[in-house]
Amino acid sequence: MPELAEVEVVRQRLCDEALRKRIKEVIINYGKTIETNKDDFKKHLVNQAFVDVKRKGKYLIFQTNDYDMVSHLRMEGRYYYKDSSDEVLKHEHVIFRFDNGKDLRYYDSRKFGRIALLPKNAYMEYPGIKKLGLDANDPSLTKEYLYEKLKNKKLAIKTSLLDQSIIAGLGNIYVNEVLFLAHIDPRISSDKITLKDCEHIIKYAKEVLDESIKFKGTTIHSFESSLGVTGGYQEKLKVHGRANEECVQCKTKILKIKVNGRGTYYCPRCQKS
Ligand SMILES: [Zn+2]
Repeated sequence: MPELAEVEVVRQRLCDEALRKRIKEVIINYGKTIETNKDDFKKHLVNQAFVDVKRKGKYLIFQTNDYDMVSHLRMEGRYYYKDSSDEVLKHEHVIFRFDNGKDLRYYDSRKFGRIALLPKNAYMEYPGIKKLGLDANDPSLTKEYLYEKLKNKKLAIKTSLLDQSIIAGLGNIYVNEVLFLAHIDPRISSDKITLKDCEHIIKYAKEVLDESIKFKGTTIHSFESSLGVTGGYQEKLKVHGRANEECVQCKTKILKIKVNGRGTYYCPRCQKS
């Protein structure tokens, strides 16, 4: 599943490739991808152009002058910018055909991704977006905000940080990395997290995300960022995927455990509770 950094990289690429081009046709090859009325979807996008692409958590918001198109890639969704004459592949479910001979194609082999069309600026009311907490690299994310969200929670800190209503956009890989850098045991109860811990979590969350955006995301398993970008951040990961390797800070062996069903990598010495 793409993490926030991958979605941000995709957003940047979409801004480079897909803005201010008149859409002359919208082709829907797999109807379930479109959550809202399909005829309206086509009608409201044809003869328009995307003027901006925003991101909230892992949602992409394509804006025209009058509408917001909300897109979530889920497990395997990708966008490709191609020549209109290129053969249409099996999993290219939605095609935006521009009048410059190019297509923006939404490809999704798992078919979990969803796209919805809403009136302009209504995206904040979209159910999945409405419940999101502050973005992990939002400048207004403070240690006090995080502390308030955690102080009455009995769940493991790892689980709370994956909760998108607390912080939006931190996925499993980055939470493992952030807790390692902050020297916090992933299993510790959220209500035991101090204000100082919150400060560290936020600091390292921003650092990990900025860094991974710089390296164009993390390519793990089958995920390859859209538009042909392959991430380079996986080489920078300090604990994720490094079970039985030596900790970069203390040479202790990195352990892999499950926390609430999710694969969790940590250093038993650096992250002692
Ligand atoms: Zn260590």
